[in-house]
Amino acid sequence: MNGHFAAVGDTPTAAQYGHGVQVIDEDKEFNAGINQYLQSTDVADAGFNYHLISVFGSQSTGKSTLLNNLFGTDFNVMSESERRQTTKGIWMSKNKRGSMADNILVMDVEGTDGRERGEDQDFERKSALFALATSEVLIVNIWEHQVGLYQGANMGLLKTVFEVNLQLFQKDKQSTPRSLLFFVIRDHIGHTPLANLRNTLIQDLTKIWSSIAKPEGFEKSKIEDYFDFAFSALPHKILQPEKFVTEVANLGKRFVAGSRSAKGHSEHGEQELEGGVFLPEYHRRIPADGFSIYAEGVWDQIVANKDLDLPTQQELLAQFRCDEISREVLINFDAAIVPLEEQQAEATRAGKPVVIADLGTTGRTAREKVVKQFEVQASRYHKAVYTRKRADLEGKVDQRLKSLYQAQLSAAHKTGVSKFTESVSGAVKTGQKSGGSYEFAEIVEKAKTKAAQQFKEEAQSLEIAGVSWTNFQSQHALFEKDLDEVSARLRKEEMRRLATRVERWVKSRLGDAVGLEFNKLGSGRGGSGAPELDEKPQTEKDLWDRIWNCFIVIVKEAETRFSDRAQSFNASPEEVNVGLWRLRRKSWVALRERVDEEVMEGNILLKLRENFEDKFRYDEAGVPRIWRPTDDIEGIYTRARESTLTLIPLLSRFRLAETYAPPDLPAFIGHQPPGVEAEDEDDLTPIGGVDEEDGKSLEEEMTVLSEGKRQDLVVRFKKTADGVYVEAKRSAIGGVAQ
Ligand code: GDP
Ligand code: MG
Repeated sequence: MNGHFAAVGDTPTAAQYGHGVQVIDEDKEFNAGINQYLQSTDVADAGFNYHLISVFGSQSTGKSTLLNNLFGTDFNVMSESERRQTTKGIWMSKNKRGSMADNILVMDVEGTDGRERGEDQDFERKSALFALATSEVLIVNIWEHQVGLYQGANMGLLKTVFEVNLQLFQKDKQSTPRSLLFFVIRDHIGHTPLANLRNTLIQDLTKIWSSIAKPEGFEKSKIEDYFDFAFSALPHKILQPEKFVTEVANLGKRFVAGSRSAKGHSEHGEQELEGGVFLPEYHRRIPADGFSIYAEGVWDQIVANKDLDLPTQQELLAQFRCDEISREVLINFDAAIVPLEEQQAEATRAGKPVVIADLGTTGRTAREKVVKQFEVQASRYHKAVYTRKRADLEGKVDQRLKSLYQAQLSAAHKTGVSKFTESVSGAVKTGQKSGGSYEFAEIVEKAKTKAAQQFKEEAQSLEIAGVSWTNFQSQHALFEKDLDEVSARLRKEEMRRLATRVERWVKSRLGDAVGLEFNKLGSGRGGSGAPELDEKPQTEKDLWDRIWNCFIVIVKEAETRFSDRAQSFNASPEEVNVGLWRLRRKSWVALRERVDEEVMEGNILLKLRENFEDKFRYDEAGVPRIWRPTDDIEGIYTRARESTLTLIPLLSRFRLAETYAPPDLPAFIGHQPPGVEAEDEDDLTPIGGVDEEDGKSLEEEMTVLSEGKRQDLVVRFKKTADGVYVEAKRSAIGGVAQ
């Protein structure tokens, strides 16, 4: 191959494109580098703004010479002296002349001469098919003296063109592309006017058309259904070189955009063009950046002798190019999104959810860009394929964004909930430090509003207008639900704190009240020796009534305190009921503990002794006795001792004086309310008669002193009393002795 040519198999540099590029070589190989050529000549990005012209004609009729003069190209021309075929296959070059339409690509098709290259009928047919499938304008180069030679080589070529045209476009019924056959008559001497030559040619063309075999359904088709015609005559290049140049320049003016004249076709079917030869209807509508792929696909089909189905080729091209464009535009998308995906993956690995700043804006912008960029390039291709591939692309992009956004919202959820928890706990702590006057419900409500607002803003920032999956209302609802759950938990904790405070208060009140009642025992209220000693004093007989009443009053007050405050937290009635139930139980247990403390051995023995001494050592008027030997010390001692001894069975059981039965503790505590959870029961002491499954009866619950302790207490008390008695006896005798 000549080094100045960019032929098949070469990897050409821009300089090597001087002669254009070989599209198909003599071995019928397609050049994979066509797109490179289109890129280096700035055609690739032109969309539909380019044109394709092919030239046909017998071997050595000056085709390449014509193209070079017309378009400033540099196709190989047979040297005047050697007279042998030079052009092989199909070459392409971009027009280099100004003041023509943009981006004209010219294809120089290998000339044929049936007499010399019989075996090339096949190539002639294939290249005709290829040119028709791609070109808007077919220049037919013909000597003036060949006009009217109906049997000539040119007519054979035209017959082929017509046949393959029918073969090609019978499949493409919806678009029925037209082409312009532009006859350039060479070596026009001038004796016969162009109009006559044209008439002769049209008659011949019509004859050829009627002679070709037409496929089924196309029998009635006319040549004008597929072709427009244009004619031009050029003087002899060698004999009239100056005139040749001028006429070629005139001819060049016709290669601009045009429109069909209002008159339509002339009577001879010649195209009446206004402006230039490039009518939009001739364009094959292959975007420039897809041309090489399309041309290659078409050529492969032609070479394989397959039925060339252009609509299918266009669909295949669309699929290929849309996929390619999709990959290209995704590179920018990746550049914007991959770092964010990595950041998120890193955060997930570290277990620290991260809320990426401005994710919504970044995602939305990247999505808009990728779709827009795809649309600009890909929408030029087959509509259905484009629409489908666009949906695919959007699906891919959305899948990526979706997982980013979901992770983002889950991070916003987690951080939102923990911020909320911290904010409430912090405010409660501050409130407690500053004296405990804080409104828990208010704190929760404020923190919740703030957290929900922040989440909502994040969710809204991710929204993309018209993209339904970016509506995150359900996530928002879920977040609020979680806030409610956390609120409930925090409220429960707050209730516990309240309960602890109220229980402490109950304990302290009960401590005072019970202590007071038991202290009254110690005083024995003065009287002894008198007949009223037979009756137990009021203070002793209704000890438990008074303790029980005190208890009830204290617990009721505590209940009021508890439920008032709990309601201010927005606690539910159920939660309040559970709290009150727990409070009653804990209060009872506190009472029992306090009573147990009072009846501890040392304590109770001391009280009994005091009680006895009050009765024994003081008279009815409360005056201390000075014992004399005449006194009935023994009688007084016995009565006082018996009186105090009656206290022991009284103390042994928690019984109300009137009914001589235990108070109705089960009724007081009440049934376990609904909504008690396991943790509510964890710290509860079982209560006999209330918690039946515990196996302890109410009678046992109300037993303050066991039988053994009781007997032990009687013995010890008697010993103590005896000691007091002996001492009294001694003092009486001693007093006499003095
Ligand atoms: P192609 O094979 O059809 O491409 O023809 P070429 O352009 O290679 O030219 C073939 C021969 O015809 C060359 O020797 C040219 O000098 C000669 N030639 C070119 N233009 C003209 C013309 O207008 N008139 C005549 N008579 N000869 C020409
Ligand atoms: Mg040539």
